[in-house]
Amino acid sequence: MSIILILVLIIAVILGVPDIRRKLISRPAFKMFKRVLPPMSNTEREAMEAGDVWWDGELFSGQPDWFSLLKTKVPTFTAEEQAFIDGPLEELLAALDDFEINVHERDLPEAVWALIKKHRFFAMIIGKEYGGLDFSAAANSHIVSRIATRSLTAAVTIMVPNSLGPGELLTHYGTMEQKQYWLPGLAKGTEIPCFALTGPEAGSDAGSIPDTGVICKGEYNGEEVVGIRLNWSKRYITLAPVATVLGLAFKLYDPEHLIGEKDELGITCALIPTKHKGVEIGDRHYPLTQAFMNGTTYGKDVFIPIDWIIGGKKYAGKGWQMLMECLSAGRGISLPALATATGHNAQRFTGAYAFVRHQFGLPIGKFEGVQEAMGRIGGLNYSIESMRRLTVTALCEGYSPSVITAMTKYHMTEMGRQVMNDALDVHAGKGIQMGPLNYLASTYMGTPISITVEGANILTRNLMIFGQGATRCHPYVLAEMEAAANEDEEAGLRAFDHLLIKHIGFAAGNTCSAFWHGLTGARFANAPVSGETTKYYQQLSRMSRGLALCADVSMLTMGGDLKRKEMISARLGDVLSHLYMASAVLKRFEDDGRQVADLPFVHYALANHLHAIGVAFAGFFQNFPNRVVGGVLKFLVFPFGIRYQKPNDSYAQAISEAMMQPGVARERHTFLSYWKDDAEDVTGHMELAFVRMHELQDVYKRVQKAQKKGELNSNLLGNELADEALAKEVLNAEEAEQFRECEVLRMRAIAVDSFAKADVKQGKFSAKPI
Ligand SMILES: Cc1cc2nc3c(=O)[nH]c(=O)nc-3n(C[C@H](O)[C@H](O)[C@H](O)COP(=O)(O)OP(=O)(O)OC[C@H]3O[C@@H](n4cnc5c(N)ncnc54)[C@H](O)[C@@H]3O)c2cc1C
Repeated sequence: MSIILILVLIIAVILGVPDIRRKLISRPAFKMFKRVLPPMSNTEREAMEAGDVWWDGELFSGQPDWFSLLKTKVPTFTAEEQAFIDGPLEELLAALDDFEINVHERDLPEAVWALIKKHRFFAMIIGKEYGGLDFSAAANSHIVSRIATRSLTAAVTIMVPNSLGPGELLTHYGTMEQKQYWLPGLAKGTEIPCFALTGPEAGSDAGSIPDTGVICKGEYNGEEVVGIRLNWSKRYITLAPVATVLGLAFKLYDPEHLIGEKDELGITCALIPTKHKGVEIGDRHYPLTQAFMNGTTYGKDVFIPIDWIIGGKKYAGKGWQMLMECLSAGRGISLPALATATGHNAQRFTGAYAFVRHQFGLPIGKFEGVQEAMGRIGGLNYSIESMRRLTVTALCEGYSPSVITAMTKYHMTEMGRQVMNDALDVHAGKGIQMGPLNYLASTYMGTPISITVEGANILTRNLMIFGQGATRCHPYVLAEMEAAANEDEEAGLRAFDHLLIKHIGFAAGNTCSAFWHGLTGARFANAPVSGETTKYYQQLSRMSRGLALCADVSMLTMGGDLKRKEMISARLGDVLSHLYMASAVLKRFEDDGRQVADLPFVHYALANHLHAIGVAFAGFFQNFPNRVVGGVLKFLVFPFGIRYQKPNDSYAQAISEAMMQPGVARERHTFLSYWKDDAEDVTGHMELAFVRMHELQDVYKRVQKAQKKGELNSNLLGNELADEALAKEVLNAEEAEQFRECEVLRMRAIAVDSFAKADVKQGKFSAKPI
């Protein structure tokens, strides 16, 4: 006992007396920290420092403040936004025919371009003073998601000007002259923007673009001016084939020191009219059969005046920082909108189809195998919509949360991909035969586009989420890095010492709490609500402690190597992401007023996220480079093993039943999904058949029962079946007529397209339903 007391006293003296602590602990730790600090390029540093931390910081702290999350207000629409959603948006949606766009026109029809410009769909992020709509992130997300449920091509065309590109860069950094010159035209759609960063040699590693701009003197409008001689070759650029203004990223050099002392200024962004001499807009790409404009651009020794740099001379060399600061909209709104559309459509139409499509005498949604896939669709769609709302909430609160938007981009597009695969499996041949009757194929084909753009997903998961999250969301690491980078070594040490003592307390607290929660199954962890979801809050608090502990130990033991150990760090990123998604699900459940009908979806989603956290931790412990440390961490966080199970089958069954029921819950879960109130359109027809078959369920049941008993011939269909049912008095005359009409609807709902052989050869697709 006395030895322990002496030890405690020694530790107290070492930690409590600043001079001793600095000498024995802080100085050696400071030196080691400087040594293991990962080497960082300027572009990496700028990416790391860009943006804000929000709820991700709470999750990383080990002590998420659930009350503050639940208190955050759900964004609402202004009257103007709502009027736009009810008016111009519906008008545009009704005008879209995705098959026509992608197969025959291979472009948006003129009338659709005209509507987009007339209603200023390109101007959602442009200020009113320039003729823009100045919509919130919530309205932007709602509008683009809903368009994407109708046509991916239209959604991509509209989202690009409303995300990272000339409009956003001008709004944030443009000079007054640039704003006044460009923004009114961009708002009206008389100017069409594109933004060109990617080239053949620089994709994910966009900071390494080989495109150059050399500051020199040249002639512009008959006068000699200081300008830039540009050389570039870009590919994959969305809207480039129709752009009137090219946002161009290049590396800027000033060998003659015409604007300053530096030779190399770094990445710079300029705006160049595409009709400017020397600007070449090249050919179109054909991205997975989608007809949105995407292509190449190049230029050789093109001279532009220096004041075409966005923001003017003072922003020369600041391009990367500008891009990083503005990434959040694209990552947090646009690409997630495509995944949202997939989720809402998959849930709505798979539910309907699984009810109207009968095999073995039953709706296919009654078979357990199909229910498993439908459970995933509904469960994941609940997470997709929850994540969309929470991230949009952060954006509406004025944050530019870089880690959250990276998680949102990655996980929503991955969940979208899973949901789409499941929807296609359930629809089987109906999802495969392309034509106007196939409401899935185009989104299925286009799914990898959202996986790839704005940071391809493998890179986003492996490099960005935890790479940036560990330093940005950690309460001390970024400040410690800044202290280590301080040129005044003693001042740096003093700051570091101060942080270190807090960091040690933080790590000790997380270790004890993680172990305690592990031993007690988190029964004593805090939760802001009581009821069915209490246990999830407790488990998430516990996992938050586990994440904080494991992140600290990883950084301590691997230092700079952690950056290269992508498979280790990505798994911690997965833990953070699933904590975020689970939080989003819990918040949505509360915000929606704790709907009992949503409970199977909520349980499914939360079990799924906890299970994914368990899988990520299991891989992390198993592959931790130091086996002993990995084993100790596993014991501390999961003293009785990892016990998170996949969602119960009963939730999948309840979800699939709910998906096959028309009504309020279905409308709430799929409210972004557009269906045309017109029986000639496949979406309107599917709704009609689905609802009518529900209304006649009793009639169908009686016919099926009679068939089973052998009272009705089980080989008969449609009219013949109705005739026999009438003759044998299974149905009365009115019911037989209703049955007849409903069978026509059902047959059309399960129909696919066929085309004349000669037409297909000529690329003409005049569809005939079969
Ligand atoms: C349809 C479409 C539209 C686009 N629109 C535009 C646009 O308007 N403007 C624009 O500038 N660009 C645009 N892009 C470019 C897009 O942003 C890039 O394609 C994307 O960044 C990936 O580059 P890449 O295709 O060259 O892949 P690569 O960089 O060759 O990557 C290949 C694979 O390696 C992975 N990878 C690379 N480095 C790492 C790493 N360090 N760790 C882990 N994994 C890694 C990637 O995740 C990817 O899976 C568009 C692309 C497409 C397909």
